[in-house]
Amino acid sequence: MTTIDHIAASSDTADAYAEAREISEGLFAFIDRQIIPMENSLGEVMWNPRLYWREDGRIADAVVEGRRQARAASADAGFYTMFCPEHLGGGGLGALTYFLVWEALCHRYGSPQTGLAFHVLAHTSTGPTALWSQASDELKEAVLPRLSEGRLQGSFAMSEPDAGSDAWMMRTTAVRDGDGWRLNGTKQWASWAPTADFLITFAVTDPERFGARRGGLTCFYVPTDAAGYSLDGIVKMYDELGGEEAILSFDDVRVPDTYRIGPVGEGFPVAMQGSGQLKLTKLGRHIGVARWAHDKAVEYAKVRETFGKTLAEHQTIQNMLADSAVELYAARLMALDVADKVSRGVDTRFEVAASHVFINEGMYRVYDRAMQVLGGIGLSNDSHMMNGWHTLRVGRLSEGPTEIQRRTVAKHVLKGR
Ligand SMILES: Cc1cc2nc3c(=O)[nH]c(=O)nc-3n(C[C@H](O)[C@H](O)[C@H](O)COP(=O)(O)OP(=O)(O)OC[C@H]3O[C@@H](n4cnc5c(N)ncnc54)[C@H](O)[C@@H]3O)c2cc1C
Repeated sequence: MTTIDHIAASSDTADAYAEAREISEGLFAFIDRQIIPMENSLGEVMWNPRLYWREDGRIADAVVEGRRQARAASADAGFYTMFCPEHLGGGGLGALTYFLVWEALCHRYGSPQTGLAFHVLAHTSTGPTALWSQASDELKEAVLPRLSEGRLQGSFAMSEPDAGSDAWMMRTTAVRDGDGWRLNGTKQWASWAPTADFLITFAVTDPERFGARRGGLTCFYVPTDAAGYSLDGIVKMYDELGGEEAILSFDDVRVPDTYRIGPVGEGFPVAMQGSGQLKLTKLGRHIGVARWAHDKAVEYAKVRETFGKTLAEHQTIQNMLADSAVELYAARLMALDVADKVSRGVDTRFEVAASHVFINEGMYRVYDRAMQVLGGIGLSNDSHMMNGWHTLRVGRLSEGPTEIQRRTVAKHVLKGR
């Protein structure tokens, strides 16, 4: 089993390219026809930080509702769950198509974090994916239909104040309580938790196995209206007025056993499945966003004049654009290789780690260069560059920092890879 093999291995390479092109065209037409007007109708709240964030640091209600409507419209149009396995009611499209469509989406719409276009595809953090294969029938029946219709939104809450890179430092526990479980502990960083209807979370259920770093972790579904659950604070990022990440706690939160996802004590494989798909999303998103910024830099370099000629005529700027083109080319080949191998069910643990080192760091460099070529405009709100920069900077830490990915690469190398 690979880290991201849960995405359906349905498409062969050539089909996936044609499929991705066709889907992307349909998706863009849908976004331009329905989602962009929706975004425009929300007006200033979408771009004015004073309106986008509430006083308590959460996202404005109008934006939360806009996201819900975007998900629902996408579900109606048949896009939202197209990468979810067929047996869960999704479209069952493969990993290569998944990467290509995410890349195309972010290349076209750019800086993705705030725009509604970013919410039209379900991914592990928020929507239905293959991770749900391991849910009980009762849970699937109760949640999946509404989740697939875009009416619910989740959050993937694994990290804790003392457990980031090293998940074995986790302290949240779940103990048996009659026919259910009782959870206690604190989670940190969970993206989209402030607006979530539920969490996919993880707790130690066998301290002995966990202490020996041999399993003992279990995955649970926790509704955010459960007694004992509380959202203790918003983690504000980048000097913003609010944030999408949260600190949350479980104080004797009781859930039935049907809310367990996967076998008792086997939460790590579930977590790997979840973060595996996020990693593939990330490859598409980061390369797409970096291409979006690079295109802007190329266009700007052709028209902006300094010292009697365009920026594009200065050798230094040419070198910057060339370096970015080289890194984009290499990143894309790596990502395509990973996605293709995942599609074919090949073990990609080395490739995923290696590509994440290069792509997370490389796309950040590409983006930063593009901002530099744009001069002061690249840093202004009008250029809308800042969200993409945030996304790429976070990418060097979330879903496994690049230092930890290097650790994995080194392990493979030392084992003779
Ligand atoms: C914006 C954002 C969104 C996030 N979203 C989520 C989410 O939705 N769900 C979730 O569960 N988590 C989420 N995270 C948490 C993320 O996964 C952690 O931040 C990440 O795992 C790193 O953990 P840490 O921040 O505690 O850093 P630490 O683990 O404290 O590490 C600090 C630094 O030391 C380095 N380091 C640590 N160990 C080693 C080592 N052995 N060798 C070399 N270097 C090392 C790290 O790479 C890092 O640079 C998010 C984080 C951010 C910033």
